[in-house]
Amino acid sequence: MKKLQAPRGTQDVLPPDGRRRLEILRIADDVLGHAGYEPAETPVFEDTEVFARGVGESTDIVQKEMFTFEDKAGRSLTLRPEATAGICRAYIEHGMHKLPQPVKVWYAGPFFRHEAPQAGRFRQFTQIDAEALGSDDPSLDAELILLFDEILERVGVGPRRLRLSSLGTRETRADYLEELKGFLRAREGELSEEVRARIDQNPLRAFDADHPGTQAVMKEAPLLIDRIAGDDAEHFSEVRALLDSAGLEYEIDPTLVRGLDYYTRTVFEVESERLGAQAALGGGGRYDGLIEELGGQPTPGVGWAAGVERMLLAVGEAEGEHEIDVFVAGTGRDAFLLVTRLRSSGFRAQMEQAGRSLKGQLKQADRLGARWTVILGDEIEVKDMNTGDQQRAGSVDDVLGMVGR
Ligand code: AMP
Repeated sequence: MKKLQAPRGTQDVLPPDGRRRLEILRIADDVLGHAGYEPAETPVFEDTEVFARGVGESTDIVQKEMFTFEDKAGRSLTLRPEATAGICRAYIEHGMHKLPQPVKVWYAGPFFRHEAPQAGRFRQFTQIDAEALGSDDPSLDAELILLFDEILERVGVGPRRLRLSSLGTRETRADYLEELKGFLRAREGELSEEVRARIDQNPLRAFDADHPGTQAVMKEAPLLIDRIAGDDAEHFSEVRALLDSAGLEYEIDPTLVRGLDYYTRTVFEVESERLGAQAALGGGGRYDGLIEELGGQPTPGVGWAAGVERMLLAVGEAEGEHEIDVFVAGTGRDAFLLVTRLRSSGFRAQMEQAGRSLKGQLKQADRLGARWTVILGDEIEVKDMNTGDQQRAGSVDDVLGMVGR
C-alpha cells in the first residue's frame, strides 16, 4: 500500500507546537485588541481575480506561486496567497465604508504559496494580519508598526531589525521606475544577464542582485525615496516622528522592495537576527490604491502580515514549564470524580488512563510536568512534585485545599 504523507511544503502541527501557536494568537489578540483591532475572517479561497487584480499580475506570487483550481462550475478559484486583497474585497462587498472609519481588523489562518520549500518556507503557512482601512492618517502606520513590534517582543523572538521606507504614490513610483529603467539601460553592459532580462518587467529587483557588477552599478542608482515629495514626504516624516517619539528603532532602507504591487507610501519589514535565509518575520505597508483597484471607492488602507512559523523558529525551543497542575495516580470512578472536580475548580488535571503500575504513574506525572500528584490507594496521599514531600489527605475535599498553584 502507498505510504501516505503530508503534501510537500506542508506540515502537521503536533503538541507541544499547537499550544505555542495558540499562545502567539492570544498575544496578538491582546495587543491588537487594546488598540481596537477586532477579529475577522475571510474565506481561504477566493475568485482568482481578487488576487490577480489585488496582488498584481506581474508579481511572482500571481505569476508563479498561486494554487489555482476550477470548481465544478468552471469558476477559477485560488487558495489565498496573502490576506489584504481578501479583506479589501470584503470591505467593498459589505459596504464597510459606511461604518465609522477607520475599520480595524486582525485575523490569522493558513495561506498558500507554491514556493520551493526550505527552512522557514512552506507551501502552507500561517499568518497573523492586522489592517486599518478607511484613513490615511500617519498615526495608523506608526501604530501598526508599534503593535507588531510589541507582539514580537512578547512572543520572545529576540533581536530583530526593522527596515522602513516610503514608496510615495503610484504616480511617483511610475515616474521613478521610468527613470530607473533609463539608468539601467544606460549601464546595461555591467549588469547580470538576469537583471538585464528583467529591466522592463521588474527593474527594482536589480537592488537585490548578488552579482558584483550589478551591485556596483546599483550603488549609483537613483533612489525612490529621494523622489518623494509634497504630501507623501510629509506623511513619511510624520510616521518617522511618531516612531521616534515612541522610541522604536528602525533603519531607513531605500531599497526595500516588497513582493506585492499594491503598496503606496509606507512600507516596512522586520527581520530576525536569529534566522538564516528566510529571516523575514513579517512586513507590510500602506495600500491606498488597492480598494479602488478591486472595484471600490478610493479608500486608503494600511496593514501587515507576520509569519507564525517564522516566529516559532526565532523563539526556539520553549523552556519546560508545568503542563498540568495535578496528576491523579489512580483509576476508576474515584479518580474520575476527583479529576472532574479538580477541573471544575480551575485546575489542569489528568488521571491514569493507560494501565500503568504505580511506579509508571509517578513517572508519567513527572513527564507531564505535574505540580502535584494525588495517589489514590487505601489512603489519599498528595505529593508536592517540587519538593518531593508527601502528605496524607483526609478526604477529597482536603485534596482541593492542599493543591494550590
Ligand atoms: P509577505 O506578505 O510575503 O511579506 O509575507 C509576510 C510574512 O509571512 C513573511 O515575512 C513571512 O514571515 C511569512 N511568509 C511568507 N511566505 C511564507 C512561506 N512560504 N512560508 C512561511 N512563511 C511565509
